[in-house]
Amino acid sequence: MTAKTELTDVVTMIQPAEALDLVLQNVPQSVIENIAPEDGLNRALAQIIHSDQDYPAFDRSMMDGFAVRLADSGKPVECIGELAAGMHADLILKDGQCVQIMTGAPCPQGTEVVVPKEKIEWQGRQVLLPGDLLLDKHIARKGTECSANAKVLKPGDIVSPLALANIVSFGYQKIDVYRIPTAAILTTGSELVPSGQSLKPGQIRDSNGPMFSALSQQLGLNIPSRHLVSDDIESLKESINNALKQADLILISGGVSVGNYDYVPQVILDIGAEIIFHKVKQRPGKPILFARKEDKLIFGLPGNPLSGLWGFHGYVKPAIKKWMGIDPSPKRSNGNLTDEIKNKGPRKRFVLAIATEKDNDPFSWNVTPLPGHGSADIYSPANANCYISIGPGDVKMDKKSPIEFEWIM
Ligand code: AMP
Ligand code: MG
Repeated sequence: MTAKTELTDVVTMIQPAEALDLVLQNVPQSVIENIAPEDGLNRALAQIIHSDQDYPAFDRSMMDGFAVRLADSGKPVECIGELAAGMHADLILKDGQCVQIMTGAPCPQGTEVVVPKEKIEWQGRQVLLPGDLLLDKHIARKGTECSANAKVLKPGDIVSPLALANIVSFGYQKIDVYRIPTAAILTTGSELVPSGQSLKPGQIRDSNGPMFSALSQQLGLNIPSRHLVSDDIESLKESINNALKQADLILISGGVSVGNYDYVPQVILDIGAEIIFHKVKQRPGKPILFARKEDKLIFGLPGNPLSGLWGFHGYVKPAIKKWMGIDPSPKRSNGNLTDEIKNKGPRKRFVLAIATEKDNDPFSWNVTPLPGHGSADIYSPANANCYISIGPGDVKMDKKSPIEFEWIM
């Protein structure tokens, strides 16, 4: 595709769902890397993980106790030996005998039940068994947990700590996982100073840079490079070109709307990138811009912090997840509103909220909207853990309405 040359040609004011589709369509092909399992934590698998043998590989005792025969229920038996985990005995257990056995040890051939230590009584050198023995009780028979060559994990599954335990149990020394894209963050605005510096009149601290970096890291990305750029066409051009050399994904904060110093859209065209869309019918977050240059993605996120946050959750996050081989669909849950919310006008509205567990139902949530004072107000929803959407159109949702919400944690 050739880059568009005029801003007036750009696809604009589209619906959020259409914008998301365009983002996902433009995510470059995910790259596979072959790495040590422990380096793959939290990444998506690009292969099937098979078990290498039956699990357990032998009839394993699940208790510290005695391996016995059913026929000896309620009788005293002779203890002919002891087996600890890691040991193996070639003996065959016969009626009238028992072997003291530890959790994890292989049961001797002929074992029909393991009796926990607490349930027997020593009578001199003999062991008195209880009368209620059941076949296979406290024995994990060979292959009952997982059979040889079973497909245990599939492409797209995340290497969680438990998945990792499986992978190393099966003896894998290397696994195929999807590569994590690299990100660069450019925060534009001549009013911005880095956090930690004192403010002159009219200045504000750059909170978007750290926020976008934190959001990226939450998804498993390495800490993105970060630069503050003043509202100046040449500096912006140079910074974006440098960022394109260093990272797969460029997040630009601010300068993407219609102000006299909002140079980002024009500069993106000037550097030869293709703007896929600019502006989405939503609030907050309307001015968002999405562009592509070869296999690099560029997001122009509005400077107002909540608008930028929505740009990230709505579009950047799904793009990163897809790039990492992970299902990009959002994690949703159901709950009930604790207060009414309203929308007015043709844009879909997103409202940050806090979901708390209901006392009597841990699978449903009370969702309290935190509407705040517009898209610069990060203070009212400071402890939000989810968001809800309403509209488009003039709509109202009453208190107690059932609602679907999306987690932002
Ligand atoms: P802009 O999108 O550049 O027009 O900025 C919109 C609003 O967001 C302005 O009030 C900016 O001062 C503010 N803003 C821009 N960038 C940041 C940032 N990095 N951190 C916090 N606020 C910002
Ligand atoms: Mg600005």
